[in-house]
Amino acid sequence: MRPHRAYSPGLTGTLPPREARHLVEVLRARVGDRFTVFDEHREALAEVVEVGPGLLRYRVLEERVPEREVGVEVVLYPALLKGDKMAEVVRMATELGATRIQPLIALHSVAKEMGEAKLERLRRVAVEAAKQSGRLRVPEVLPPIPLRALPRVEQGLLAHPGAGARVREVLDPDRPVALAVGPEGGFSGEEVELLVERGFTPVSLGRRILRSETASLALLALVTAGEGR
Ligand code: SAM
Repeated sequence: MRPHRAYSPGLTGTLPPREARHLVEVLRARVGDRFTVFDEHREALAEVVEVGPGLLRYRVLEERVPEREVGVEVVLYPALLKGDKMAEVVRMATELGATRIQPLIALHSVAKEMGEAKLERLRRVAVEAAKQSGRLRVPEVLPPIPLRALPRVEQGLLAHPGAGARVREVLDPDRPVALAVGPEGGFSGEEVELLVERGFTPVSLGRRILRSETASLALLALVTAGEGR
């Protein structure tokens, strides 16, 4: 079987049915094959001991605690986007180390709500991206809230075209950070004022106007990957 990481809450020795089906039906797992199991707390090398239709049991050979987290809470507040764009944001944010993703309903958001099915899909995207990037911690994906419900933050950066400051000039990488990114139509002037009141500093992401998804990626990359975390 080719190398694989499977999510198994509690490392109980039995994979959840969805994971088991993938290993058995797609990867053709056999007794004796080795793979990696992980949950939010641990990761382990495991060996397959039993396979059946939709069933895979394993035994843990060796536990590990890899260091793959940023080291501080990184909360992304992306404005709610329409279509499949949120899935793209969740995937990239998970790979880049976000610990929570809280969509905001902004004045110029085209989308104004998110159904339960879509939220569940975004949570599955986060699990898949965590697996792919070797993270143990799957970021929390929360239902959207109106922008005015945003709490005051200890350290916040607001992606704002034309802002004077650059991320590296204002970021303290050792403190928790909240990142806000506007919708397709940008934040309104009042929304920018409110975000500043709540502790967000406007920062520029360069001279070009980025799509909202690209701006989330760029901002997170500067805060985590750019700091080598
Ligand atoms: N006309 C809108 C405006 O001027 O705000 C453009 C919105 S842009 C498509 C979507 C979001 O991405 C913006 O609200 C902002 O948060 C972020 N963004 C895009 N380009 C940026 C840049 N060069 N610097 C900082 N933020 C940017």
